[in-house]
Amino acid sequence: MNILLLGGGGREHALAWKMAQSKLCAKLFIAPGNAGTLQYGTNLNVSVTDFEAQKKVCLENKIDLIVVGPEEPLVKGVYDFYEKELPGIPVIGPAAYGAQLEGSKAFSKKFMQRHKIPTAGYAEFTNENFEEGKKYIAQHTLPIVLKADGLAAGKGVVISTTHEDALTTFEEMIINKQFGDASSKVVIEEFLDGIETSVFVLTDGKDYKIIGHAKDYKRIGEGDTGLNTGGMGCVSPVPFVDDIFMHKVITKIIEPTVNGLAAENIIYKGFIFFGLIKVNNEPFVIEYNCRMGDPETEVVMPRLQNDIVELFLAIHNGTLKEKNITYNDKAYATVVAASGGYPGDYKKNLKIGGLDNLKMANDSIVFHAGTKQMDDTVVTNGGRVLTVTSSGANITDAVNKSTAILQQIYFDGMYYRNDIGYEFK
Ligand code: ATP
Repeated sequence: MNILLLGGGGREHALAWKMAQSKLCAKLFIAPGNAGTLQYGTNLNVSVTDFEAQKKVCLENKIDLIVVGPEEPLVKGVYDFYEKELPGIPVIGPAAYGAQLEGSKAFSKKFMQRHKIPTAGYAEFTNENFEEGKKYIAQHTLPIVLKADGLAAGKGVVISTTHEDALTTFEEMIINKQFGDASSKVVIEEFLDGIETSVFVLTDGKDYKIIGHAKDYKRIGEGDTGLNTGGMGCVSPVPFVDDIFMHKVITKIIEPTVNGLAAENIIYKGFIFFGLIKVNNEPFVIEYNCRMGDPETEVVMPRLQNDIVELFLAIHNGTLKEKNITYNDKAYATVVAASGGYPGDYKKNLKIGGLDNLKMANDSIVFHAGTKQMDDTVVTNGGRVLTVTSSGANITDAVNKSTAILQQIYFDGMYYRNDIGYEFK
């Protein structure tokens, strides 16, 4: 079958790598892709949200399946578009209504409340009850978490340690429209103090399969310091996610979520990313995402032993329940190389050296993220440029292998963290 993959980051390189291994995958098209995805198929200069241009691609290339990497097309209704325009082509993802689990924090909080899923206590405010919101903040315990309701490219969450800061942020979001429409509504949440992890599920809206879990490292600096990024690395499996904790995640979070989707007739045929925090050995939901994480995909896909295309088809033909998920029992880690200056301003189009002569064993993979092929050279094209995933006997071993490969790659200003997985070494 011919598959169209939407997206162009490290997550999409990892999905392309995995799908290309399937006997069911004949031709793969990636829109827009990166220099890494070129190894597995044809990159198309089409945006992830240009559904009309994608439709043309689907007709021209006899596409049989669409896999969606990022959240934006899902929240904007890519599933609904194809259901109406080309109903024979299944899309991996939720319809727009279900994508609000990620696209609206207020929607996801209400969903969790309805289904008694453990999460931080909260209240929501808009321009209309702004004054009430100020009083709510003034009486709230510290720290206090403020979240823009809509998508804000990972920047819409602020944790304030003083009431003054929280009030300023609240005003910035609602009155000064810091994130445009995305912050016209703000969710104010209680702060949960614990350790985070993410669990990944494939669902058809009734049944589900867990396909992996991971812990990512969001801060730019070593020791989890400095600004938040899209993610500077991650590890899987996570040592504290033992059978007892996973049982709690399944019974208190995953099952109520999937049962809630089914009970509310929400069309959902794709990934659910459960962003969790462990507080006193109990899991709480920090966020839902309606797609895989990046860089979590870069460890989850290599660790997963199943044919991913078979799982995608099972979602659409009602056989997901019968699938048996298996994992490689090694430890996996990925370490991201970023452009100098990221997550602030950074340069693009810098030549990346070393990629052609890497000394590496077959338990490591270089996944491209912000890269671009320019004639016969690969250049940087984003903040997070590439990531190296390795497996090993333990996390230290996996991280050391990835670091040894990163030491052979170079571009001006290249930066990576040397402490990925530090708590588990
Ligand atoms: P992402 O970029 O991961 O999609 P997002 O903008 O959707 O993020 P959240 O995941 O909800 O926002 O929050 C971002 C980060 O803020 C979390 O990973 C977590 O570290 C922290 N955070 C969010 N909510 C809470 C909370 N209630 N208590 C403590 N920390 C929190």
